Amino acid sequence: KAKGAGRKRFHIFEASSKYDHVENFIHELALSVAVEKEELHLHYQLIYNPVREEVIGAEALLRWNSANMGMIQPSDFIPVAEETGLIIPIGYWVIRQACKDWHLLKAEYGPQFKISVNISRIQLNEHLFVDQMLQILEDEHVDPRVVELEITESTTIHSMEDVQQTLRRLRAEGFTIALDDFGTGYSSLSMLTLLPIDKLKIDRSFIWEMNVSLISAILAMAHALNLQVIAEGIETYEQYRMLKEMNCWGVQGYYINKPAQFALLPKQVVVTKYDTIF
Ligand code: C2E
Ligand code: MG
Ligand code: MG
Ligand code: MG
Repeated sequence: KAKGAGRKRFHIFEASSKYDHVENFIHELALSVAVEKEELHLHYQLIYNPVREEVIGAEALLRWNSANMGMIQPSDFIPVAEETGLIIPIGYWVIRQACKDWHLLKAEYGPQFKISVNISRIQLNEHLFVDQMLQILEDEHVDPRVVELEITESTTIHSMEDVQQTLRRLRAEGFTIALDDFGTGYSSLSMLTLLPIDKLKIDRSFIWEMNVSLISAILAMAHALNLQVIAEGIETYEQYRMLKEMNCWGVQGYYINKPAQFALLPKQVVVTKYDTIF
């Protein structure tokens, strides 16, 4: 009886993995069509300094509004784009669009405004990456010093040497580098001292836990290493107040704003003791 059940499970597994394969292929095709048909858009989420009470920047977040499949989340299509290499042209599209929008955002929020873009490991390993980035910024009349590149902790695990070298070149050109989702990967403290980075973005899971001792330890360590800190996933006034009292340099989350297209961003941030401002 147990044998039969096992065989049955095997068949189910086989069928679903075949299906996954086909689904992936269709996804890949659709994604290449999406790039051509201009179904990709950027949303922005503000980054706010709670002490100075000003908007200091925004993170560009990619959205795929498919004519056939509706809104598709980045977590569903970025892995496919990475596997197929499509993330390379998509990534260049993202930086170009973010640069175009930066001119509008800066006019709205002031000269301190910086634009953040997420960069995947695949992009960083492309040998023309730095040159292409500089060309795009030059085309769009944007100085690298107002562009922040977010890389995730896991990116730095692979080919540490190459990553370090590319990051050093980018920093020498004026870009700033933020380590995204900090605390979720496997980075050791010694790795933090080796990596050429400017910022840490504390992963939202630590914020949601309201893990005060952990957050203050990260802030103290960052301070000692001369790194600025942004807290992700701020959803409530309590979380906001905690991070403001801790002198956290930047906060980001639904409490400040939900990611939105440029035209729908709040002109200014209004801090209230109410958790939901929507
Ligand atoms: P991320 O860079 O860590 O971006 C933050 C994610 O958290 C975003 O999800 C954002 O919408 C969400 N978020 C922000 N504040 C809150 C909050 O208060 N509560 C909750 N529940 N969620 C919040 P999103 O837009 O779905 O993006 C997911 C991930 O996809 C990003 O994580 C980033 O790693 C990746 N991604 C997005 N755009 C790009 C891109 O242009 N290029 C690359 N390579 N990756 C991208
Ligand atoms: Mg990010
Ligand atoms: Mg993050
Ligand atoms: Mg994330």
